[in-house]
Amino acid sequence: MKEKYIIPIFVPHLGCPNDCIFCNQKSISGQKEEMTKEQARKIIEQNLKEMKDKDAEKEIAFFGGSFTAIKEEKQEELLSLAYEYVKKGEVNSIRISTRPDFIDRKILKRLKKYKVKTIELGVQSANDYILKRAKRGHTFDDVKKASKLIRRYRFDLGHQMMVGLPDSTRIDEINTAKQLIKLKPKMVRIYPVLVIKGTKLEKEVQEGKYQPLTIVQAVETCKELVRMFDKKHIDIIRVGLQNTDEISDPNNKESEVVAGPFHPAFRQLVESAMWYDAVVDKIKKLNVKVKEVQVTVNPIDANNVIGHKRENIEKLKETYDVDLIIKQDETIKQGKSKIDIIKTYNDFLED
Ligand code: SF4
Repeated sequence: MKEKYIIPIFVPHLGCPNDCIFCNQKSISGQKEEMTKEQARKIIEQNLKEMKDKDAEKEIAFFGGSFTAIKEEKQEELLSLAYEYVKKGEVNSIRISTRPDFIDRKILKRLKKYKVKTIELGVQSANDYILKRAKRGHTFDDVKKASKLIRRYRFDLGHQMMVGLPDSTRIDEINTAKQLIKLKPKMVRIYPVLVIKGTKLEKEVQEGKYQPLTIVQAVETCKELVRMFDKKHIDIIRVGLQNTDEISDPNNKESEVVAGPFHPAFRQLVESAMWYDAVVDKIKKLNVKVKEVQVTVNPIDANNVIGHKRENIEKLKETYDVDLIIKQDETIKQGKSKIDIIKTYNDFLED
């Protein structure tokens, strides 16, 4: 499969009438400037120049979460620019992310005109009370209607959901995943809530009204969600916000994150935790008390089996007194594993 190269263009929604509790758009407006066609062109040109793998599949992605809610002229301006590159064959596709209440036939026809391939919706939760509490300004019914329309117009549908919103429980998040699966997205992003400077959520933390999830809690829930989407072959394109200068460890001076389950390798934590469960599950099915096991996996999975900072190896030793040896084998399919007993407890006693 060809590598996919994303050319990200952040389109801020200046003057957004909404007031989502986790968003700092209001507090930063004035600091951020509108994305111009010239700036966008520069970003695209720069990315195309710096790209190492010229054969990679290239996609221009308008991020920001409200693309179809910004001024129509601005949308046309940016889309026509991106389409120029598609027509020249220099870029393969265009993706946008937007709010579910800013999708209708007219909007979709505009996106079709410029050959947009993928539309990602910021869903956040399937529970209307939680959406209201987060001041999202839309309901889950908007998500359902928008998703159906997007699929009817034959776009690739993406969903973004959050974990750890105020008053949201693990059951709510599992239910959100269930509801999303019914809407048949092609891909999902899962974002544990981070508390960003200057947001209403920061104020709630200071007032003791909101307590962010710990990393362990966020990993536990995300693990469950990843399993659910995986089972339905829905592509999980991101787990955890991308690590940037602003989205980084709350202890960093430049970080905009003040609290929440931030980890620079959050997805790896989730995948390692899933491997740990899988290995324990296999060990428990063995009919003898094992002392040393060898797990053979595809090299791509090896680090996740070992765990972040060898966490899985140490946890297995501490909890079950089992030594774990990891063998890499390219013939094993990614995500699959083979387990062999190297030493049972009886062997160990005889030694
Ligand atoms: S997250 Fe909410 S408040 Fe922020 S730009 Fe998007 S719609 Fe507006």
